[in-house]
Amino acid sequence: MSLESPQSRCGYVAIVGRPNVGKSTLMNHLLGQKISITSRKPQTTRHSILGILTEQGTQALFVDTPGIHKPVNKAINQYMNRSALTALKDVDLVLFVVERLQWTEEDELVLQHLERINTPVALVINKVDQLDDKSRVLPHIEQLSERRTFAQIFPLSALRGKNVEALEKWLLETLPEGEHLFPDDQVTDRSERFLAAEVVREKLMRNLGEELPYAATVEIESFKFEDNVLHIHALILVERDGQKKIVIGHQGEKLKRIGTDARKDLEYMLDAKIMLNLWVKVKAGWSDDERALQSLGYRD
Ligand code: GDP
Ligand code: MG
Repeated sequence: MSLESPQSRCGYVAIVGRPNVGKSTLMNHLLGQKISITSRKPQTTRHSILGILTEQGTQALFVDTPGIHKPVNKAINQYMNRSALTALKDVDLVLFVVERLQWTEEDELVLQHLERINTPVALVINKVDQLDDKSRVLPHIEQLSERRTFAQIFPLSALRGKNVEALEKWLLETLPEGEHLFPDDQVTDRSERFLAAEVVREKLMRNLGEELPYAATVEIESFKFEDNVLHIHALILVERDGQKKIVIGHQGEKLKRIGTDARKDLEYMLDAKIMLNLWVKVKAGWSDDERALQSLGYRD
C-alpha cells in the first residue's frame, strides 16, 4: 500500500439506548435504506441486527441492540438484557442514544451498564428537531459530561438527517485499521428470509399496536421461488387464544391487512412478485420458557 492511499478501516459499532429513542432510525439513516424495523411502539427489535456501511475505505458493522431494560421476570426480557450486554463487550465503538433533554431511570441504567466497558462511547442526543429551545442543549450536555467522559457528543435528528454527517465522519475516521470483513456492496448479513419475518412482525405491531403487547413472534416456515413468484409461508405465534382472535380480526380482516401491507413492502425490498401466506398459532407460555425461546432462534 502506498503512502498516499487511505488506510483500510473496519470495526463494530454498537447502538445502545432505551427503547424508542431512535436507534433503528439512526442506523437506517446511516445505511441509507430500511433494514432494521422502526415503529412507534418500543421494543420491536428483538434480534441484534447487523447493518454494514462501507464508505471512504472504512467498513462500519452496526449492531442494533434490542435495548437494555429494567430487569423483569419474563425470559424474553432477560434475553434482551444479556444480548445487549454481550454486544457491548465485543465492539470498537458504542453510540449511546438518548432523546432531547430527557433523562429517565432507563437511561441511567444504560449508563451504568456502560461503566462496565472500556470501549469509547459517543453520546447521541437525538430528536433535537423536537426542541423549541435549542439553547437548553448545551447545559444538558455539560451535565451529562460530568457523568462519563464521552469520546464525542452529537446532538442530531436521525429522522430528519440533521447533523448525522458529523457522526458518520467521526465513525469513519475513528474505527480501527483493518481489512474489510464483508464485500463493499453488502448492507446486511441477514437473509431475505429473516427480513421477511421482520417485515411481517413490523406490520403486526403497526396494525395492532397496544392490543398486542410484545406477545407475538413470527417464523418463516417456507420461502421458495416457483414460476417467478416468491412463495412465503409465515407463522405468527401468539401466547393466548384471545390474542389469536385479535390478530385474525373480524372475518379475518386484520390478518388480511397485515398480509397485504407486508407483501407490498417485501415486493419493493426484494424486487420480486410475492405470494404471502400467514397463519396464526397459539404457543402457550413461550415468553416464559427459556427453552422454547431457543428453539425459536433467540440465542445469546
Ligand atoms: P428505537 O426503539 O430506539 O430503535 O427507536 P426507533 O428508531 O424505532 O424510533 C422510535 C420513534 O421515534 C419512531 O416513531 C421514529 O420515527 C421516531 N424518531 C426517531 N428519530 C427521530 C428524530 O430525530 N426526530 C423525531 N421527531 N422523531 C424521531
Ligand atoms: Mg429499534
